[in-house]
Amino acid sequence: MALHVVPSAPAPEQTKLKSRTATKPAEMLQCPRCAGREFIETVIGAMIQARKLKGGTRQIICVGCMLKGDRVVVA
Ligand SMILES: [Zn+2]
Repeated sequence: MALHVVPSAPAPEQTKLKSRTATKPAEMLQCPRCAGREFIETVIGAMIQARKLKGGTRQIICVGCMLKGDRVVVA
């Protein structure tokens, strides 16, 4: 049986996926722990006056980390 040299297969095309941070504007919030960009705003200690929240401390928390049980305050 004769052996033949098989030409090497062309290299698989490089994946064209960019990293998630490649196109992020500098002002866009991003979670430092999971790199997620979905957030929840929480209000601690607010009062209700005329059906509106008054005062309180507002914090932005990462949704992805929240689902894992971590409370990551982003802003
Ligand atoms: Zn996160």
